[in-house]
Order: sequence, then structure tokens, then C-alpha cells
Amino acid sequence: MRVVVGGGTGFVGRALTQLLRSRGHQVTHVSRRGGKDRISWEELSHSGLPLCEAVVNLAGENVLNPFRRWSDAFCREVVSSRVETTKALAKAIAAAEQPPRAWVLVTGVGFYRPSPTAEYTEDSAGGDFDFFSRLVSSWEAAALIPGSPTRGVVVRSGVVLGRDGGAISQMLLPFRLGLGGPMGSGLQPFPWIHIQDLAGIVCHALEKESVRGILNGVAPSSPGTSNGTFAQELAAALGRPALLPVPAWAVRAVFGAERAAMLLEGQRVLPKRTLESGYRFIFPELPAALKDIVA
Ligand code: NDP
Repeated sequence: MRVVVGGGTGFVGRALTQLLRSRGHQVTHVSRRGGKDRISWEELSHSGLPLCEAVVNLAGENVLNPFRRWSDAFCREVVSSRVETTKALAKAIAAAEQPPRAWVLVTGVGFYRPSPTAEYTEDSAGGDFDFFSRLVSSWEAAALIPGSPTRGVVVRSGVVLGRDGGAISQMLLPFRLGLGGPMGSGLQPFPWIHIQDLAGIVCHALEKESVRGILNGVAPSSPGTSNGTFAQELAAALGRPALLPVPAWAVRAVFGAERAAMLLEGQRVLPKRTLESGYRFIFPELPAALKDIVA
């Protein structure tokens, strides 16, 4: 199948592209930068969607970029890089003479209200209580194409754990030096997924005609993982101690209060529909996932 991937040059996109190509699919990226097997967002809006059977959107300004201050301008970029790219792809799908069969968007579990106790499935309510939950709502709304024959899937992802990017790349140095530890109280849930499983779920959603609607992109054991257990397991995988908690005030000082909430709070999320849809996780448990990443 020919697959067009917005933001396919990034951390998740590289893993997805590799998986799709290994399964015999052809991949074209939509990117702000030119290159082989790429088109620009301008080309997409002027010339329409290249002939393809499936579309994915992974584009988005990195929310946890510690080098960017949490300003109004940055907030607008975080929103528009997701909502506008999703709208552009949805519009191109709606206008395509031969519409693709599948359209997959990756958003986040920030849709669900952080809580130390509540457990959320794809049927749970959310999306209307803070900046990130409202972002997910407008992002997912931008993907809707009323009356379209194209099958739509949204994967709400937890923190993506992988070797060359994402949250772990920022944590590895302090943890290797034995300076890592839980953030804040460490009791907050830590919803996570191994990058191979997120790429696997997107690929499953593209290939399996019966999959549609929301799928939670978190490991099955993720509801039992707290930020503190994550810190302990990462330290154990590296053979280092995890003794030094990072105080909540320090996290707020680096990221700003709104973004710090993403690290200091969390959700227990179950991949109920994902499992029911027939997806089998490669890394359901944290120790094996971390061993694979840091080995
Ligand atoms: P990356 O930070 O790697 O970014 C993905 C791509 O988005 C980049 O390669 C870039 O493509 C494009 N992009 C970045 N900034 C902008 C911008 N301002 N305007 C337009 N395009 C931009 O993301 P990930 O691969 O980590 O994540 C993929 C998606 O999954 C994102 O939407 C993210 O919000 C979501 N997600 C990720 C999680 C994670 O832990 N990583 C957790 C939950 C959700 P190019 O330079 O080619 O234009």
C-alpha cells in the first residue's frame, strides 16, 4: 500500500516508516523540509494528496522541548502544528478523486483527566478540562471528514519509549550518571508505550479493515506503572541507583507550570479497544521494554 505520513521524519515517524517499508509498503512523508520521498505542506495544499491507500499524521512541535519557553507564541505553535496539519490532510483526503482507505491520527492520553486512581478506556470521557485535553479534542475534531468513505482511526498515545528520541533521550544522561530519580512525589501514574508497539498499532490500524475509532496507545501493564516505578526500572536496566527525586518546583522551573503538569501528574489508561481489535503487544511489560531500549 502507498502511505502518506505527515511528520514522518520524526521520532515515531522513523520507526513507523521502517516498519511499513519492511512490510512492503511505500512511504511518502509530508514535511517542512525537502528531500527524497517527501512532499511539502504547500505542495499538499496546492496539488492535493498524492495517489495513496492510507494517510497518517504524526506532525507536531515537540511539547517538552526544554529549550523553548512556555510562552503564548509557543503554545500557538504547539496547537497549530497539530491542528492545522491534521486539517490540511483531512481536506486533501476529502478532495481526493480516489480517497485512501485508511486515515490514522496519533494524539495523546492527555485527553483523560490526570488521577492517581481512575482507570480510563477508550470509552471514557475527557477532552475539556485543561490546555492539553482541549488540544487533543480540537486535534481529533480536525481529523473528522463527515460522509467520507475513508476509515478513520485515532491512536491516543502514552509517553513513547524508544532508543533515539522522546522522553528517554532526555533522561538517559542523568540516570547513567546515577543522578536520576522520580519526578515530584513519584506516585503519579506513568502511561507508557514502547515505540515498536506504537508503530505496530498504527500499522495494524492501516492494514486491518475492521479497525476504526479510538485506540489507546499504551502498554497493557501501563496502568500499574507510577513515575517512581518507572525511575526504578530505568535505573535497574542501566545498573545504576535511582535515589535522587527531582523536586516538583524544579520541574516547574524548567518547563513552566502548565507543561510540568504533564510530568507531575498522569493517567492510568487501558488499551481495551486496542487489544479487542486483535493487536498483540511486543512489549507489554516495562522491564523488557527498557532492557530493549538501553541495551
Ligand atoms: P517529533 O517531535 O519527532 O515531531 C514529529 C514531526 O513533526 C517532526 O519530524 C517534524 O517534521 C514535524 N514538526 C515539528 N514541529 C513542527 C511544526 N512547528 N510545524 C509542522 N510540523 C512540525 O514527534 P514524535 O515523533 O515524538 O511524535 C509524533 C506525534 O505523536 C506528535 O504529534 C506527538 O504530539 C504525538 N505524541 C508523541 C508522544 C511521545 O512521547 N513522543 C506521546 C504522545 C503523543 P518535519 O521537520 O519533517 O516537518
